[in-house]
Amino acid sequence: MARIAEPSYENLHAAAQLLRKGEVVGMPTETVYGLAGSVFDESALARIFAVKERPTFDPLIVHLGSEVLMSEPLVALAKLELVRLDALNELARGRTGALMRAFWPGPLTVVLPKTSRVPDLATSGLPTVGLRVPRHPVAQALIAAAGVPLAAPSANRFGRISPTTARHVDTELGDRIPLILDGGSCAIGLESTVVTVLEDGHVILLRPGAITRESLEQVTGTPMDVAGKPYAHTLGLSAPGMLESHYAPARRLVLLPTSVSQLDAQTALRLAQDAGPKIGLLLQAGNAGELGRKFGQLTGREVVALSLSREGDVAQAARNLFSSLRSLDESGATLLFAEPCVGQTGLAHAIADRLNRAAAKT
Ligand code: AMP
Ligand code: MG
Repeated sequence: MARIAEPSYENLHAAAQLLRKGEVVGMPTETVYGLAGSVFDESALARIFAVKERPTFDPLIVHLGSEVLMSEPLVALAKLELVRLDALNELARGRTGALMRAFWPGPLTVVLPKTSRVPDLATSGLPTVGLRVPRHPVAQALIAAAGVPLAAPSANRFGRISPTTARHVDTELGDRIPLILDGGSCAIGLESTVVTVLEDGHVILLRPGAITRESLEQVTGTPMDVAGKPYAHTLGLSAPGMLESHYAPARRLVLLPTSVSQLDAQTALRLAQDAGPKIGLLLQAGNAGELGRKFGQLTGREVVALSLSREGDVAQAARNLFSSLRSLDESGATLLFAEPCVGQTGLAHAIADRLNRAAAKT
């Protein structure tokens, strides 16, 4: 059974010790909790996939110590023999460096051509590696104590809701890992934004996140392409950050066509017709009590309602998304509904992306 441990000096030391032995541990980051293992240890990488029941075609993100920011980050990564500078033209190097300087430490993963020092298992055989310098002090302390970059996917079983507290990690994987460092609730609550910089300098958004497309474009000075199926295909990607169904609760989740305040009785009844007596409702904003009662009247069901942000604050909504889905999943409701996220900001785009995929499960 996993021990949930406060991030004291002794516990960080114990976690680093486990990592050096090829074990995996739960690690807080500002995005979501990760399941960390040494990137240079193939048995640790294999353990990550086994513990998560993650298919080996899904590449891991490599988490780096902030010392790479003390000089030119891209040069530091080349010196660590993680990325191949020779595979990037000058424009690509310039844009990559600018992104790293602007957004690291922070929730941005940059996918770059990898060297042979990065095990193929970490990248699912792809010729590229996803890299990030996390901002969370406990993640940084753990990477420093371990003395190696840490491969860390989200610390949930594959396809399930990402964990944003140590307790969530315990629920997901507690019976399979020795230690979870408790760093509190994740400040962002959504996985990192993932971009790739191609050899010719093209920048492509692979997964939306807290760092928005607009702010990325401002730094690179160029409009970016957004990965869709054609990109996944041309890049040879089968990355589940890009799979249609992901981040899913165990109960079926149905996206409402509109907000509850706009919903008509006929549509509500039709959507809930196969549901049992108790249903769950995830609201983007507003008063959960009031809107839950309205939804209950429309559907004739008992409703457990949660609001992502009463005031409609999108950062707060992002922070609450996964834990709210998880609570509804555990509430005894047999069918879950969610209001669509319709905001225009990058973060709203990221929430909509996660909700669409949580609802895509058949
Ligand atoms: P996570 O969801 O936190 O486990 O992060 C893993 C995700 O990062 C993958 O599912 C991909 O979406 C993305 N990723 C990591 N490495 C690569 C790579 N080399 N190429 C493309 N996407 C990657
Ligand atoms: Mg994940």
